[in-house]
Amino acid sequence: TGSVAVTSGTRFDLDKETELRFEVEAGEKVQLELLSGLAEVFGSELNRNKKYTFGPGSKIAVFTWQGCSLSLTGKTEVAYISKDTPMLLYLNTHAALEQMRRQAERDNDRGPRVMVVGPTDVGKSTVCRLLLNYAVRLGRRPTLVELDVGQSSVSVPGTMSALYIERPADVEEGFSVQAPLVFHFGSTTPGTNIKLYNKLTSCLAEVFSQRCEVNRRASVGGCIINTCGWVKGSGYQALVHCASAFQVDVVLVLDQERLYNELKRDLPHFVRVVLLPKSGGVVERSKDCRRETRDEKIREYFYGFRGVSFYPHAFDVRFSDVRIYKIGAPSIPDSCLPLGMSQDDTQLKLVPVSPGRDLTHHVLSVSCAEDEGESGAGRGRGILESPVCGFIVVTAVDTQAQVMTVLSPAPRPLPRHTLLIMDIRFIDLK
Ligand code: ADP
Repeated sequence: TGSVAVTSGTRFDLDKETELRFEVEAGEKVQLELLSGLAEVFGSELNRNKKYTFGPGSKIAVFTWQGCSLSLTGKTEVAYISKDTPMLLYLNTHAALEQMRRQAERDNDRGPRVMVVGPTDVGKSTVCRLLLNYAVRLGRRPTLVELDVGQSSVSVPGTMSALYIERPADVEEGFSVQAPLVFHFGSTTPGTNIKLYNKLTSCLAEVFSQRCEVNRRASVGGCIINTCGWVKGSGYQALVHCASAFQVDVVLVLDQERLYNELKRDLPHFVRVVLLPKSGGVVERSKDCRRETRDEKIREYFYGFRGVSFYPHAFDVRFSDVRIYKIGAPSIPDSCLPLGMSQDDTQLKLVPVSPGRDLTHHVLSVSCAEDEGESGAGRGRGILESPVCGFIVVTAVDTQAQVMTVLSPAPRPLPRHTLLIMDIRFIDLK
């Protein structure tokens, strides 16, 4: 009887200001169609009589301001209509931000810089997407700053990035990621190297501010910063650092009063800190689920997504043709540090790595840093602060022949020869 359910669509009639929530079963696909009325998915409008397909594990809410009829085809784990959503509060937040953009336009000032914070699985990324969509639908050009190194919506995990938003997110695929600015962090949690995390946050803030100086629309559009769910200890300090680096005007705290109170206490008084409820629809994701999403993100980078297939290349790279680094030397007790050196220096140090078998399956960032001659020494800062031009995965290492085989989105040769190792591994099953 399962196959019957797959072929016949189920109709849902929604009143105004309600949403249909559904989750797609593992290994399944679900098709959504708007039959009448108006509806949106995380701020992207649906076209009528178009079939939208969502893959396994997708967790979707179709919201309607006016009322609508929808049809779902395929196996859903759950599908229900909820009247209880915080969407009105989110819309009001958008309206307040839009007010600030208008004022910025009038006063030749800059638009709102917004940081979205909260523990994991409270819908931070979703709120960012919503606010960006509403802004771009009004003709604004906001920037998404993605600081969630575990679940990046812009690039592969282990990166920090910025994306200039010029059109609403695609309902199925999210924002078009044509020319993101991406930095290598190298791990899925900021705690691995908090100094580097804060430094890259500052780099992104600087690049964004430079862009605002030359691009009025970017300046008025402002930015929406998505952050990690780690909100205690150094994670909290990283949020405070980010607020100051970007000179944020507004902080949206999702679902956690303690965090809200702390930020109100610690941020300058002119920063507006707002507590917002999370949506009851946001689903908690297990560790495994998170890992799968990360894996999927890397697979998409090499093999493409849905309709668009990429054909990555496999080729050998001689050890002598590349320089491989890890960022951060293992920390040693303060008392053992050479005179005049601090822990900061060790965390931001570029450590040359000689390739061995243990490099197999690791993701490597190809740094945009200019290749230099023999001595890489002293150029460390340049490499840390350089964006990434792409990623490769090491699929095999032959220490005898001194070559490694890599999976790369582009044919040989590598565009640059400075490679940075990630903690993250990807096993290519294709
Ligand atoms: P966070 O960024 O805080 O970790 P996300 O924004 O990624 O959280 O949301 C977690 C999951 O919940 C995502 O898969 C998202 O699609 C889903 N989700 C968010 N809002 C809703 C909603 N209203 N109904 C159903 N699913 C939702």
